Amino acid sequence: MRPPLIHKDLTALALPPNAALGWDEARRMLDGLPGGGLNIAWEAVERHARGALADRVAIRWHPVAGNVRPITYRELSEASSRFANVLRSLGVAKGDAVFVLCGRIPDLYFAVLGGLKLGAAVSPLFSAFGPEPIATRVNMGRGKVLVTTEALYQRKIAKIAVPMPTLEHVLRVDTPEFRATLAAASPQCEVERTGPEDTSFLHFTSGTTGMPKGAVHVHGAVVMHYATGRVALDLHPEDVFWCTADPGWVTGTSYGIVTPLVHGVTSIVDEADFDAVRWYRILEEERVSVWYTAPTAIRMLMKAGAELAKRHSLPSLRFVASVGEPLNPEAVWWGMDALGMPIHDNWWQTETGGIMIANTPALDVKPGSMGKPLPGVEAAIVHRGEAGLEVVAANDTEGELALRAGWPSMFRGYLDQEERYRKCFADGWYFTGDLAKRDADGYFWFVGRADDVIKSAGHLIGPFEVESALMEHPAVAEAGVIGKPDPVVGEIVKAFVSLRSGFQPGEELKMEILGHARKRLGAAVAPKEIEFSASLPRTRSGKIMRRLLKARELGLPEGDTSTLEESA
Ligand code: AMP
Repeated sequence: MRPPLIHKDLTALALPPNAALGWDEARRMLDGLPGGGLNIAWEAVERHARGALADRVAIRWHPVAGNVRPITYRELSEASSRFANVLRSLGVAKGDAVFVLCGRIPDLYFAVLGGLKLGAAVSPLFSAFGPEPIATRVNMGRGKVLVTTEALYQRKIAKIAVPMPTLEHVLRVDTPEFRATLAAASPQCEVERTGPEDTSFLHFTSGTTGMPKGAVHVHGAVVMHYATGRVALDLHPEDVFWCTADPGWVTGTSYGIVTPLVHGVTSIVDEADFDAVRWYRILEEERVSVWYTAPTAIRMLMKAGAELAKRHSLPSLRFVASVGEPLNPEAVWWGMDALGMPIHDNWWQTETGGIMIANTPALDVKPGSMGKPLPGVEAAIVHRGEAGLEVVAANDTEGELALRAGWPSMFRGYLDQEERYRKCFADGWYFTGDLAKRDADGYFWFVGRADDVIKSAGHLIGPFEVESALMEHPAVAEAGVIGKPDPVVGEIVKAFVSLRSGFQPGEELKMEILGHARKRLGAAVAPKEIEFSASLPRTRSGKIMRRLLKARELGLPEGDTSTLEESA
């Protein structure tokens, strides 16, 4: 039985929820560059810094330890301009790739916005990545500059064994030399005349096969960021907004950097990792009004108990949203109990650049559903087969979730993988790789992934990248990696490993291989579990059948095994 709706008494809201906002209208809410053009950093920072919002706090930064640092729009403008000028003096020009591996510190925001001012292709990387995922991405993106900290440099970059031939500079932002260089740079900088189709961000995401995919995004996406900030996140001018995602993942960039700043609201940035007590304290002290978080975090808060939530007074909190993985109906109900409001699930992915489907403030919430397509977004359930493409008219029918191509924040390509990009589209539809259903009321329900990628704590992990790192261990003959269901983080990465002759399975070897994987891949990507297996199931063409490994792990029917060739 489908869970009931949560009817919202909209008259009880202090502020009326934002109504539908078309893209043309959203575009008109932006300034555009003086003299023509469009640049995200201009819309997010410069126009506010030169106008009425100059002294409003843009970011309130909570360091792991120490005092909160408020940064006004004017300060953000000046600090990002200094960064832009330093990058420019190093030869960074429009189209060059700047990677940022910093953790959630103010310099990350200065570097990203400074890079955008220059028209660089900016790629924030997750600081929990190990040396290998970092090097792979820098090389794929032909990174010219890598911005990092001394500690991350020592822990990660210095340990990269492969050459990074395009990299000309590694900037360590917290060294006295670099601080002096920044201080000497001008706090003013002319924003590069970018247009809506010029590259803004490179976001890496994972597929089933091969190495990561570099999704190319453009400055025109800012129209979508503005529109979704209003329609899906209900941003109003006086809001205090907190997006808990790290900018190393697309949510932390689109909604942790761009959207709140474009709206001129105050955005909370917390350097620390999840901690239930700390999070409630921040929500309370900062009077957060709109909160955007993720199912894993909500499940961890649920574990900490509703009592803890109720010990805090959160009268300013008006709207809570979640993204990245399925949000269980219980979590939505828990929101009602602990926070006094439902949690609004929404759906999107790296390739879409912004929220596509949402339980918006103006809609009743269906717990367990991702919501409805936003205004201007056309979503459908499709079947793709030998007979071609069928757009499924019937409700409650499972199929692949597809979106009508052409929304402003759509990715414009996969770096150097034209064919892979082309294959995502047919007949004007973009195929998301997710399986879903639509009900009679037009709400969409997530069913699962159509491929083997793993979602762990909201992070998309490509099994191939993990298998490749495991295979580099001298004891490993072959490896197959799956997502094993987990009640808190959704899935954990589990590896099945067969050993080369001469190696014996055992606890010690298991720990050694786990340690090897963590060192190479970092904690966010490395497997949490390893199981030795004398052989792994393969297709006759030699591909490891992850689907079968997963079915066996879960005790499910093995399905079609006609191509199976189990090898020792
Ligand atoms: P990423 O590109 O890392 O943001 O991951 C995108 C993928 O996360 C989607 O294709 C889905 O598989 C999953 N995802 C995102 N939002 C939701 C949601 N609300 N419910 C279920 N799965 C989601």
